[in-house]
Amino acid sequence: MTADAPRHVPVMTAEALQFLAPERGGIFVDCTVGLGGHSRALLEAGATRLIGIDRDLDALAQARSALAAWAGKTELVHSDYREIDSVLDGLNIPLVDGALADLGVSSMQFDAPGRGFSFQRDEPLDMRMDRSSGQTAAELVAVTAEHDLADMIYAYGEERFSRRIARAIVTARRETPIDTTIQLATIVRRAIPSRGYQRIDPATRTFQALRIWVNRELDGLDAFLGAMIARLRVGARLVVITFHSLEDRIVKHTLRGLEKRADIALKVLTKKPLIPGDEEVSRNPRARSAKLRAAEKLA
Ligand code: SAH
Repeated sequence: MTADAPRHVPVMTAEALQFLAPERGGIFVDCTVGLGGHSRALLEAGATRLIGIDRDLDALAQARSALAAWAGKTELVHSDYREIDSVLDGLNIPLVDGALADLGVSSMQFDAPGRGFSFQRDEPLDMRMDRSSGQTAAELVAVTAEHDLADMIYAYGEERFSRRIARAIVTARRETPIDTTIQLATIVRRAIPSRGYQRIDPATRTFQALRIWVNRELDGLDAFLGAMIARLRVGARLVVITFHSLEDRIVKHTLRGLEKRADIALKVLTKKPLIPGDEEVSRNPRARSAKLRAAEKLA
């Protein structure tokens, strides 16, 4: 990798490998291949075939070059992991030996200019992981009713000033369309009562909410987990890494629910989620909020 190639340091790789045990060989699915960091580790450790899925075409191009040495063992698919059944059906793979989902956005998506995830630079308010379909954040912000904006910012951003922010957005968009990240960040900051020093920028929660909403990040996460688990061979494991509490809550409850079902035979291997060690967090700030949960398909 050259110095200015997009970077993304994979999170909790050692823990994921411990659960997935790719040294046994077999078919592994990386449901969020991203820049291929985890996939590369799975292949280096002995996976005999790797299916890598991502909804972001830029990420897939990066993964393709990162995994070039294993091109013969790798299938990269532009899809949404919620389409896991059709992806595996399309490849004629009924069951797999392990699966990984490392949810959320990559550092590449966040840092690459022009994607609109970050308000550190002024850029078009896009925020779509898959730029080949769907509405951009700017389009949604332009047309959504005030009370729906407020509900979305409250639910996905856990923002207590959601109503004020929604009102400020609606007032501002009557004057000019809100097309850029800095425009939106400025509106949000002005809508929130100032409370002196703030640990995080007050626009952060609204940006998180919009990102989750634009990409429907929480919709169908439960159904995806069920579908992925149905595709695990006996003894195979699913590892899920999340980066915020809304996601982790869904993963926790869904895995517990599936564990209780008599027709599924699933054992949750992480009573509490694993979190990264201090050393990893100091090396990779993105790991800070990571939580890893794993489950195994039983006979
Ligand atoms: N583990 C990867 C990084 C993953 S970052 C690595 O080591 O490089 C998360 C990735 O998941 C992003 O590339 C994002 O585009 C992708 N993603 C998020 N939601 C998705 C979905 N519903 N379907 C497919 N890919 C998704």
